[in-house]
Amino acid sequence: MSAAPITTLEGIGPNRAKAFAELGVNTLDELLNYFPRDYRSESAERRIADLIEDETQPARGEVVAVDYLAGGRRPRFEATLDDGSGKMGMVFFNGAYLRNKIRPGMHLRVKGRVKFFRNLPQMSNPTWEPIATDAATIEEAAFIAVYPASSKLTSDAIARTVAANIDRLTHDVNEWFAPDLLRKRNLIGRREAYRLIHTPTNEREAKAARRRLMYDELMLMQLGLGLGKRLRDGRLTAPVMRLDKLLDERIRGRFGFDLTNAQQNAVWEIMKDLQSGRPMNRLLQGDVGSGKTVVALYAMLVGVANKLQSAILAPTEVLAEQHFLTLRRAMTGSTVNVGLYTSRTKRNSKSQMLRDLADGKVHLAVGTQALIQEDIRFANLGLVVVDEQHRLGVRQRAVLKDKGLSPHYLVMTATPIPRTLALSYFADFDVSVIDELPPGRVPIKTRWVTPKQSHVAYDLIQREVAAGRQAYIVLPQIEDSGADEAKSVIKEFQRLSTGPLAGLRLAQLHGQMNADEKHTVMSAFRDGTIDVLVATTVIEVGVDVPNATVMLIDNTERFGLSQLHQLRGRVGRGTHASFCVLLSEASSESAKERITAMCDTSDGFEIAERDLHLRGPGEFFGTRQHGLPEFKLADITSELELLHVAKDDALELLADDPKLSTRPHAALRDALAVQFGETLRLAQVG
Ligand code: ADP
Ligand code: MG
Repeated sequence: MSAAPITTLEGIGPNRAKAFAELGVNTLDELLNYFPRDYRSESAERRIADLIEDETQPARGEVVAVDYLAGGRRPRFEATLDDGSGKMGMVFFNGAYLRNKIRPGMHLRVKGRVKFFRNLPQMSNPTWEPIATDAATIEEAAFIAVYPASSKLTSDAIARTVAANIDRLTHDVNEWFAPDLLRKRNLIGRREAYRLIHTPTNEREAKAARRRLMYDELMLMQLGLGLGKRLRDGRLTAPVMRLDKLLDERIRGRFGFDLTNAQQNAVWEIMKDLQSGRPMNRLLQGDVGSGKTVVALYAMLVGVANKLQSAILAPTEVLAEQHFLTLRRAMTGSTVNVGLYTSRTKRNSKSQMLRDLADGKVHLAVGTQALIQEDIRFANLGLVVVDEQHRLGVRQRAVLKDKGLSPHYLVMTATPIPRTLALSYFADFDVSVIDELPPGRVPIKTRWVTPKQSHVAYDLIQREVAAGRQAYIVLPQIEDSGADEAKSVIKEFQRLSTGPLAGLRLAQLHGQMNADEKHTVMSAFRDGTIDVLVATTVIEVGVDVPNATVMLIDNTERFGLSQLHQLRGRVGRGTHASFCVLLSEASSESAKERITAMCDTSDGFEIAERDLHLRGPGEFFGTRQHGLPEFKLADITSELELLHVAKDDALELLADDPKLSTRPHAALRDALAVQFGETLRLAQVG
């Protein structure tokens, strides 16, 4: 690890350093961790007479003839190259643009796959560049790293800089693991891996390097998670909750419906945890609208009956208020107190709320993350429910920890996390899955509509509103940003109010409104005094208005697949038939793939797998998860085997050296401290 600036390297002056800085590379360490995204192999140049059939290889020569054949199915540009040893033909399909680029007399270096045609070598659509007649020939085959580059800094320039300084760059890289482990897993040394990821001489070396560094990434994560798990399992005790038949019936009686089998199973699994005396650490995963909140409410009420407080944290204020309303509705006529705490909470009621939490008057606390980030004391917190996969960091959990007893912890997520990712990101969680929707739901009809046919969408909204239903219209941005052609909430609100949706009651909802304004609009929409909500993705998660039956997503191509699925989940929550309309030109292939996927399936798992496939795991989560390393190299979907191996090895390593305090693990401990400092510290005092 070296934080020395890269200007201390030979050949890097202020300009170069600036270009590197734009790529996020300022220090030696950052340069070392700036990995190639690919490699290309350069074979040695052969004379035309020596070219080999079916191999991709470079050649050079003088252009001695050109021709353009416009007729036929595929117009093509042809050129002949001569290097003295022989002639080679080249064909460029659809190559009209080459007519004034490649001319007789020019010298070219070309590269392509060679086929023989009437005994003459020929390349189809080779890459080409003009060269000077005396340009040096490529004498030796080479294997070259390809880096993510910029207009100011080419990949080759980066490769040269790294290669020239590779000894210095790797000088401080220390081994993390014992030789036995490396042998067992057939891994090369860590320093060697860093050297070879940048300067391999062949594909095999590059692969070995990548595999080793990927293993390290996975190990780091698994060790961090493993430490956290040992902390919980080993030291922490949680309140034991009791449940009997009477209580079970009383809680069920609060819901106006029977639980589905899937909800029932989840309840059982959760109850087992709550009765165990060990802190529950459970992920409750279920597609949008599958009824997770009800399951969480069940658990919270068991807590209340056991004289323990429960808290539920929502990712947004709108959602916190919604949970608050749901809970209060479910609790009418009981002695259970529900409290709401968000940044909208007025100062007076805020201090009252803090007192009520501290002396146990509030039984169910609903809030945003503000509820735990501020200095808030609970009298006897027994259960924390977190809505929408926001993992709490170890620190936040430590804050929640209540004098020796840790609260139980339930994370609800509607973003179906593909099994492959669940295994890593939520490796320390037990998982309950609700894979069944409440009865009576009518499947949502999803349809793709081009801008030319947009009247279809607006007619649908008119009809549904006339029938007493409501609609959402989602746009990619709040205001027009000039440079961007995407539509905006503000513009569309005006256009629709006076145009296609004139006469309906429209309102806007977006992130620039303050919490009070948002609250007013959401309440009105819930009460049915607004017909159409024109919004950004602020309504993406969790909003529950069963009377809404149309979700119109404009500029659909601007949204990711999982996001689209979330948005669609806002409708189809009641017994009325619902519609999702995807309005888009869908000019790009990937947009088409996403829209097709949406029309093909409403299965959240399948959507998530496709999304993962389209975007890769790094982007799948958008931002970096709390405390977890980003995957620079590991493509978890294809490297599942290594992940399993790392998980086993991490557990074994922690069993042998629980605090990583032995000498061979010094470097590993340092690295771990960067990512999982808090956990490590707690593990070491424990
Ligand atoms: P999620 O949080 O998983 O998106 P919710 O818990 O918000 O789902 O439930 C969606 C809607 O379905 C709510 O209006 C809820 O009252 C209703 N619901 C939940 N479970 C059932 C059930 N077993 N039977 C009928 N309706 C249910
Ligand atoms: Mg919900």
